[in-house]
Amino acid sequence: HDLRNEDLKDMQELGQGNGGSVKKVEHVPTGTTMAKKIVLIDAKPSVRKQILRELQIMHDCNSNYIISFYGAFISDPNICICMEFMDKGSLDGIYKKIGPIDIEVVGMVALAVLEGLTYLYDVHRIIHRDIKPSNILCNSKGHIKICDFGVSGELINSIADTFVGTSTYMSPERIQGAQYTVKSDVWSLGISLIELALGRFPFADSDDDDSDLSEFEGTLSPSRPLPPSRSKAEKEKADKRKKRKSKGVSLQGGGMTMSILELLQHIVNEPAPRLTPEGRFPREAEDFVDSCLFKDPDARRTPKDLLKHPWIEQSHVSSIDLEAWASTI
Ligand code: ATP
Ligand code: MG
Repeated sequence: HDLRNEDLKDMQELGQGNGGSVKKVEHVPTGTTMAKKIVLIDAKPSVRKQILRELQIMHDCNSNYIISFYGAFISDPNICICMEFMDKGSLDGIYKKIGPIDIEVVGMVALAVLEGLTYLYDVHRIIHRDIKPSNILCNSKGHIKICDFGVSGELINSIADTFVGTSTYMSPERIQGAQYTVKSDVWSLGISLIELALGRFPFADSDDDDSDLSEFEGTLSPSRPLPPSRSKAEKEKADKRKKRKSKGVSLQGGGMTMSILELLQHIVNEPAPRLTPEGRFPREAEDFVDSCLFKDPDARRTPKDLLKHPWIEQSHVSSIDLEAWASTI
């Protein structure tokens, strides 16, 4: 049962990211709905084949907290990765639609991500490398799963060659050039949880309106100009905000907003963000986020360790009905 592009019928576009786009498709012979990720790879055929080989590891990744894999194939010049379709989409889309996510649900997200990360590392020695709300998916059964983990070293290299991506969920040690470890994923989880609970990316100024977030969100790359969807008026407004925010430093050029560098400096030099205001959230939740966001990776715990945190143990026995929650999205 090899997957072939001819057997897939496009249904709708689900979204676009830095490295490609994702479509909802139907596998006609079996009637299975899938999500097809199309990644443009500018590499030699031998490298593409190597990537395809490495992606096969995903066939062995079987966990309730990991998106299942149907197969991958080359469709020149792209590599297509077919995976389980999650009908409620990713958590960034969900909070942008329904607002800040209830802290008890956020606890279930933390539990699912830690379980997924622990499985990937303990069983396959895989580090995720890209934990963020857009890579945490949800379906109408209330299942929460992670996707887009770094299985293929060759794919990571190829994408890195094409898109000089700088993720704002990156840990201080990664920004400073240290190797990825499972603890870098824990940092990214901490940032993501604050974002879900507050309904905004935690590094934006709290007194600013939400539209400001667009400057900082997700993955920005020097090689990619600002999204073309922006109208001129919107752009002017954003530029004004930027000038105001950057406090006199205006270093724009080549389509890149330098405030990304200010943000990276901020992550390295300033205290880590917290679940605030104090007292709004359960103490255990505050403490959990604090322990994800120790700036020193030696002080930060691993996903497996954090599964024993009181807040996660509470989530384990929580009676919250995620299926009912998902039906409200
Ligand atoms: P980046 O490229 O910066 O990592 P991203 O994660 O948003 O950003 P993609 O991985 O290309 O980019 O995904 C685009 C969108 O497609 C996601 O935001 C998500 O909403 C949707 N998506 C991805 N995989 C699935 C899936 N298996 N089921 C349903 N929707 C999905
Ligand atoms: Mg993604």
